Amino acid sequence: MLHGMAEGELRAATAIARRAGVLEHRFFSVPELRELGDMRTPRRLAGMPRAYIPMKNAIYYSVAASFAEEVGATRLIGGHNLDDKGVYEDTSERFFASMQSALREGSERLRAGRLSIWRPLRRLDKAAVVTMAAELGVPLELTWSCHREGTKPCWRCSGCIQRKKAFREAGIADPLVKRPV
Ligand SMILES: [Zn+2]
Repeated sequence: MLHGMAEGELRAATAIARRAGVLEHRFFSVPELRELGDMRTPRRLAGMPRAYIPMKNAIYYSVAASFAEEVGATRLIGGHNLDDKGVYEDTSERFFASMQSALREGSERLRAGRLSIWRPLRRLDKAAVVTMAAELGVPLELTWSCHREGTKPCWRCSGCIQRKKAFREAGIADPLVKRPV
């Protein structure tokens, strides 16, 4: 999904999908959606993180369900982890249960296929996600967490800071950190 997505994220998503043998990889652009940090009236949403996008998951999962109905898919899989919880209301158990029912209500085909939203990482914090990824042989060198444009992570934005913390806690060397040889 796109919301003024950074170049790095696009590059990483494309490379990982290719490596995983994804048959059809679609990007969806929502140019009017803004992160709190880019809004003209951010004071109304005081207290939320700069990366907050109002109703983001309602929009993303609706679009994903539209694709699912088109191609006959029955699973929508999201990468939400434990660290998202408590900050974003639209990552709660109640939200996803309601969203799943609403999507089924909206389509006889999705209902017949028992469309479900899967969040396999929901009980893991970021460090546990890194550990699991390393165990599964995920190409961590292809992943991207930086919120800024560029070919190298800035290591200063919130995405980079959380990534550093997660790798440190997991005790795993981040392949994106270049070390002197
Ligand atoms: Zn960064």
